[in-house]
Amino acid sequence: MPRVLILGGTTEASAIAEALAQDARFSPMLSFAGTTRAPRPPPIPWRVGGFGGIAALADFLRREAFALLLDATHPFAAQMKRHAAAAASLAGVPVLGVLRPGWKATPGDRWTMVADMAEAVRALGAAPRRVLLTIGQKELGGFQAAPWHDYVVRSVDPPDAASLPANAVVIAARGPFRESDELVLLTERRIEVIVTKNSGGTATGAKLAAARRLGLEVVMVARPPPPEMPTVDGGGAALRWLEDHAATPRGV
Ligand code: NAP
Repeated sequence: MPRVLILGGTTEASAIAEALAQDARFSPMLSFAGTTRAPRPPPIPWRVGGFGGIAALADFLRREAFALLLDATHPFAAQMKRHAAAAASLAGVPVLGVLRPGWKATPGDRWTMVADMAEAVRALGAAPRRVLLTIGQKELGGFQAAPWHDYVVRSVDPPDAASLPANAVVIAARGPFRESDELVLLTERRIEVIVTKNSGGTATGAKLAAARRLGLEVVMVARPPPPEMPTVDGGGAALRWLEDHAATPRGV
C-alpha cells in the first residue's frame, strides 16, 4: 500500500481524502497548515502544522516512507507549493499539484484586475466606499493604509484585531456560500465593492454571480505564478494519477 501525503486545506484535498478513505490500495495522510482553528476532521489519518521548511519536509517524506505527494493546497499557498516541489525532488518522491481553474469574467461582470493586495488597496480609490473583503486573514493589514473606507471582513475564523483596518466589521463564516445568501449579505450591508483573490472553485464563487446581478465592482487579485510541478485541475485527475503510480513498481 503506497503511503500518500496530501497537503490540504482545500475542498479538493478533503474530497481526495474522502475517496482514499474508501480505497484499500493506498495508505493516505492529510496535512493541514493549522491556520484554521478547527479544521473538519477527515476520515483518514491527519496532522497539523508546518514541517519547518524544505529540508524538514524532505526528511518527513523519507522518515514516514511516503511514496507519493499530492499538493492540493490553495492556489495562493505559493510558499507551500514551492517547498513541496523542492522537498519532493530532494526526497525522490513523485509530486503532483492539484490546481483548480481560476474564475473568468463573463458579460456583465465589473472586474478590476490587480496583481497583488497592495494594488487592490489602491484600486479602492480615494473616495470612501463600503467594501467586502473576502481575502482570508493574512493580508488584511494592507487595508489599514486606506482607513477612509468601511469594511466588512469575512473569514473562516475571526482575524486578530491588530490586523484589521479601522472601520471593520467581522463576519466569521465558512463556505460553501449560496448566491441567494450572498445577495442578502451584499444588499443588507450596502456593499459597493468586493475584494477577492482569484481562488476559483464553486465554494466561494457565488459572490461573483451576486455582484454581477447587483452591478457591483469586484477587485480581483491575480494568482501567484503556477508551481514548478506537474498539475491537474481537480481531485478526479489526481486520483487517476495515484492509480497510475500505484500500478507501477516506482510508486510502491
Ligand atoms: P503558504 O503561505 O504557502 O505556506 C506557509 C507555510 O505554512 C508553509 O511554508 C508551511 O510551513 C505551512 N503550510 C502551508 N500549507 C500546509 C499544509 N497543508 N500542511 C502543512 N504545512 C503547511 O500557505 P498559506 O497561503 O498561508 O495557506 C495555509 C493553508 O491554508 C494551506 O493549507 C492552504 O491550502 C490553506 N488556504 C489558503 C488560502 C489562501 O488564500 N492562501 C485560502 C484557503 C485555504 P513549513 O514551511 O514550516 O512547512
